[in-house]
Amino acid sequence: MSKDLKDKTPGELERIVTTRGQKKYQAGSIFSFIHSKGVEDILQISSLVKAFRGELVEQGFFISQLNTSRKLTDPDGTVKYTFDLGDGGVIESVVLIDGHRRTLCISTQAGCAMNCAFCATGRLQLQRNLTAAEIVDQVYAAEKQGGRITNVVYMGMGEPLANYDAVLKSARILNDSAGRNIGIRHLTISTCGIAPAIKKLAGEDIHPRLAISLNAPTDELRTRLMPVNAKYPIKVLLDAVETYQFRVKERVTFEYVMIKGLNDSLEDAERLIKLLRRFKCNVNLIEYNPHPGCKFKGSGTERTERFCEAIGKAGIETTIRFKMGQTIFAACGQLGANSQGV
Ligand code: SF4
Repeated sequence: MSKDLKDKTPGELERIVTTRGQKKYQAGSIFSFIHSKGVEDILQISSLVKAFRGELVEQGFFISQLNTSRKLTDPDGTVKYTFDLGDGGVIESVVLIDGHRRTLCISTQAGCAMNCAFCATGRLQLQRNLTAAEIVDQVYAAEKQGGRITNVVYMGMGEPLANYDAVLKSARILNDSAGRNIGIRHLTISTCGIAPAIKKLAGEDIHPRLAISLNAPTDELRTRLMPVNAKYPIKVLLDAVETYQFRVKERVTFEYVMIKGLNDSLEDAERLIKLLRRFKCNVNLIEYNPHPGCKFKGSGTERTERFCEAIGKAGIETTIRFKMGQTIFAACGQLGANSQGV
């Protein structure tokens, strides 16, 4: 069992305190000292009697803390944090600023096993899953250095649903009213399409917003771009999304990276419309972000706008997401591109 108190839900903390002869309510106090007050040393949890704090430390309990190794700021305001995990692994998170909205894009794994053809992170291979503490700590570290985060998107390095338990636990922790208290509608989990995990998430008692990284309207092309599609083809994936939407009744986002000459024709737009018509959804068209060694080119403004117009005319809300954080390799698909030499 991990002895990191930051990695525990209130229920898990309750078991720790009660099995040591303490009152149940002290679990809530530990949780709020860590996740609301930002305490990083057990000895500073002043609501606990001194002897019990000492007992926890003696038994090897601790409060982990991510080590920020680098902070880069793009002229457009985007900020990228690099964290050194202490075991050779490196992860990154990105703050995107849009008026009062400060969205943090967080990582869930060091590296990624999904190998999407357009993504720098996929070329790192999977190093390891992050703990729930390492996931929530990206939020706390960004807030400590740059102010309050209003939205969190699980869209950084790694496939969130391949680290299901820690990701769900982190969402529970961030959403807990005794902790950071980020509304569940302000948490978005983005997946490359692990269909059974989407269905499992539908059956949970909390439901973050769901985003699907779709990127192609046919199985043939999607499997070329995203090998996960060979296992969970588009029909299987969209059936799982339907299950989620039926349960949650919220709009689902489909992300679509625009790659020149590959997925950006008007025929592709028509195919996409046919696939998505049945959903209450919006489509984010993302400009392709090149990184060293990549073989694709972005569609460019004209083709992207033409594609956007075609989908919009079919009544599907569509937004073009312009490149942000270009100079610091902080845009979609670029994380890990320069911190680990890919
Ligand atoms: S796009 Fe996401 S799932 Fe695909 S390789 Fe990159 S990080 Fe992994």
